Amino acid sequence: MPATSIEQVVNLAKRRGFVYPASEIYGGLGSCWDYGPLGAELKRNVKDAWWRTMVHTRRDVEGLDSAVLQHPDVWKASGHVDTFSDPLVDCKKCKARFRADDLEGATCPERHDAPINDDCRGHFTEPRAFNLMFQTHLGPVEGSASLAYLRPETAQGIFTNFLNVMTTGRRKPPFGIAQIGKSFRNEITPGNFIFRTREFEQMEMEYFVPPDEWETWYAYWREARMQWYVDLGIDPANLRYRDHDPDELAHYAKATADVEYKLPIGWKELEGVACRSDFDLKRHAEASGRTLEYFDGQTRERYVPWVIEPAAGVDRAVLCFLVDAYEEQELDGDTRTVLHLHPRLAPVKVAVFPLVKKDGMPELAMEIEDALRARGIATAYDKSGAIGRRYRRQDEIGTPWCITVDGETKEQGTVTLRDRDSMEQERVPAAELPDLITERLRG
Ligand code: ATP
Repeated sequence: MPATSIEQVVNLAKRRGFVYPASEIYGGLGSCWDYGPLGAELKRNVKDAWWRTMVHTRRDVEGLDSAVLQHPDVWKASGHVDTFSDPLVDCKKCKARFRADDLEGATCPERHDAPINDDCRGHFTEPRAFNLMFQTHLGPVEGSASLAYLRPETAQGIFTNFLNVMTTGRRKPPFGIAQIGKSFRNEITPGNFIFRTREFEQMEMEYFVPPDEWETWYAYWREARMQWYVDLGIDPANLRYRDHDPDELAHYAKATADVEYKLPIGWKELEGVACRSDFDLKRHAEASGRTLEYFDGQTRERYVPWVIEPAAGVDRAVLCFLVDAYEEQELDGDTRTVLHLHPRLAPVKVAVFPLVKKDGMPELAMEIEDALRARGIATAYDKSGAIGRRYRRQDEIGTPWCITVDGETKEQGTVTLRDRDSMEQERVPAAELPDLITERLRG
């Protein structure tokens, strides 16, 4: 059985230390979450996998890490100050607030408990634009001169550094600039666990191309970004593209396709791939007075590149990887909960168990674990409980391999290596484990 509700994954995430409610000891803070030990590893692994695919394995992409706080004029030029808003309505009766485009009926759906036990059904105010950017002030004096915004996307830091990176990297389009980092949006209705939050992380890449090549590169990235999720184990049946209708396109976009994932709550956007044309570079050139274009000194060729942007959410990807990996299996009257995470994403790669707590087995197991750790392989050690229980604990967090040290280990130097998905066991020489696991992680 795959996950039939997000709650199953939320419960597992809390129980095993993937994600906790933020400020939990103070009663939590609406829709803010902290990543626990396993979640921190999983999230890192997702970001590393993205960086590896988008930067390290490519010749044409540079990395960047720009500041969260930028000059306020950046957000004026990008259009965020004027247009980055959602339509907000208030219920005139109970004062609850909603995003107008989320509402299904014409009256307030807020639920009132007993003795009324009914929807509020109050009428709404006219929708008004609610800007999603968080404001803050730089320095001790609060005023319009010190006003700053927490970035609502990482993309603008890339556009403002376009010239820097092109020059220092001696680049010529087509080339890309990739960045991973926190973004902040004061969402009216956050929710569905880590799917929509006010503080989240993005993985964005702006790919600068000669204007007449945009269609080719748009098609390329649309395809490549879907394939990334498939290569990391997501069932293709749970993925689809949704091409935006022309009247749905953002003001800067020529074309947009969302990569959508089939969550238990329905098909939802996981990543957007957009052609942003030369909109951003032109706007920043106008507003800053700087020339933001590609110029070839020899051929005298000069143009403002067009941009293809794959923009993904780290937290959303984490949620989809967890949901997709989740399975409850009935085994001999028992339920096995298992996360079939791709080994590269799994927080723990190998768990090492001594079969019993005597005859030198714990020490031997720890030696084997140390040899794996020395290779940079994330491991866990567990010596308590029946071996079947220990396997289950690891299955539930997605550990791909478990190693058991037993009586034969001392004499013959071999251990059992058990596979999470097939549950099959093989006998392998302990000394070969670091190479063997490294090899399987690479594959
Ligand atoms: P949505 O329509 O869901 O609000 P969007 O189209 O505004 O998303 P983009 O601006 O295209 O999103 O951002 C790129 C990616 O960043 C999204 O596909 C998503 O994965 C992630 N993202 C955006 N907003 C949030 C949020 N509030 N919480 C978590 N992830 C988010």
